[in-house]
Amino acid sequence: MPIIKFENVKKSYQNKFSALRGISLVIKSGEFVSIVGRSGAGKTTLVKMIYAEGFPDEGRVCYGERSTDEIRGKLLPFYRRNFGTVFQDFKLLSHKTVFENVAYAAEVIGKTDEEINKTVPQILAVFGLLEKGSKYPQQLSGGEQQRVSLARALINRPDVIIADEPTGNLDPASSMEIMKLLLKINSMGTTVILATHDNDIVNMAKRRVITLEAGKIVSDQNPGKYLI
Ligand code: ADP
Repeated sequence: MPIIKFENVKKSYQNKFSALRGISLVIKSGEFVSIVGRSGAGKTTLVKMIYAEGFPDEGRVCYGERSTDEIRGKLLPFYRRNFGTVFQDFKLLSHKTVFENVAYAAEVIGKTDEEINKTVPQILAVFGLLEKGSKYPQQLSGGEQQRVSLARALINRPDVIIADEPTGNLDPASSMEIMKLLLKINSMGTTVILATHDNDIVNMAKRRVITLEAGKIVSDQNPGKYLI
């Protein structure tokens, strides 16, 4: 079943050449897809349109049956609950502990204290962070901080995880660890979309890879199977 569909999408920024053009692709539920390309190729612009942080100038981006253009405005916060996001700079709240950072994501969507006190330790345990619950982000390594942001991204059980350059600030060992966790999350049924310029981690995944160059898709390959 297709979950995300781009139909001939074009996107430009003010007075600029197109950041993306002629983008058509389908991502099925449960897939693990890496979007690769050099800095400036359009990776962030593409993934942002999936969670409606940006909209196409031409063409459509659909999630299920719905185009993102239909969910602008009041519906956006609800739409975004389908997605968990992870970024290069972790985006953790420095004045909150590890536990509080993860709990906060559940609080904002109205989860009760009872639910939060049950689910947050569960998810921290999955990521090996149970003992770090009362620490603050700056007391953790980069790899640990990224694991906290993965836990936060998953606490509300989104259908899709979007990781935009999640290993950009990590050493190779921590990068591999985050990649293995993304694969594990995917194996449990969550669709994963990874934007990265790190070829080593992409090669390790042996999953579908879409390559962007100057805003266009130049290849779309599955291991052993060429899609274009
Ligand atoms: P990547 O994630 O592959 O590095 P981006 O999607 O961030 O690529 O950027 C694609 C192109 O769009 C680049 O030329 C970039 O400079 C431009 N761009 C991205 N965001 C903006 C913005 N907010 N305003 C103007 N230009 C932008």
